[in-house]
Amino acid sequence: MENTIAQKLDALLKLQEIDSSLDEIRKTRGDLPEEVRDLEDEIIGFETRIGKFKSEIAALNAEIDSFKNAQKDGEKLIKKYKDQQMNVRNNREYDAITKEIELQELDMQLADKKINEAKARIRLIEDDANRAESTLNERNEDLKAKKGELSLITSESESEEKTLLAEREKHIKKVEERLLKSYQKIRDNSMNGLAVVHVSRGACGGCFSIVPPQRQADIRERKKLIVCEHCGRILADVESVEPVHQRR
Ligand SMILES: [Zn+2]
Repeated sequence: MENTIAQKLDALLKLQEIDSSLDEIRKTRGDLPEEVRDLEDEIIGFETRIGKFKSEIAALNAEIDSFKNAQKDGEKLIKKYKDQQMNVRNNREYDAITKEIELQELDMQLADKKINEAKARIRLIEDDANRAESTLNERNEDLKAKKGELSLITSESESEEKTLLAEREKHIKKVEERLLKSYQKIRDNSMNGLAVVHVSRGACGGCFSIVPPQRQADIRERKKLIVCEHCGRILADVESVEPVHQRR
């Protein structure tokens, strides 16, 4: 059987009540959840950068090692040439070997230059890495503090939130899908998260625009879905004005 409009409105009001309570809980957490997420992203970024620095340094050290090995080979070669020079038969052979030795020595000087360049590059990268490392440590401290703060606030409202979410899950089945969609849409577009409101003191409870008396009468009848002409929120009912108590 189709629900009556009044039943639909009551179901929406109940949903609004649950959602507003959930909004309140989330508000107590403020920007903390977002700040924690941002910090976690930033930390991953720093760890990636530091990893890159470390592999650059490792590659440069490997380069230095290979230059040093080449230099050792060069030294052996020079020693071998010098031994050969002792046993040359003529000046031409002597000069040829001298030329080989000079070439080897040039190679070794070039290797020295390359090694020094690599070392200088490593020092620069190490500076960057150290800076990144100390910022990373700071961010990790921040994250620890913020997570602690958040878990404290969350633990205070955790069970309440769970109850509300379970209640919402159950209740949502009572609201027809089309209505739920527009409810969600209005809620998403509203600053205070209110999609279903009462007319209170002659005004829309969402945007405080005046609702004309005839319209209020229609709303009070609850025979059709009426939305606020200004903000589009669903007007579920008209709040009865409490009688003014006079002091005796
Ligand atoms: Zn309104």
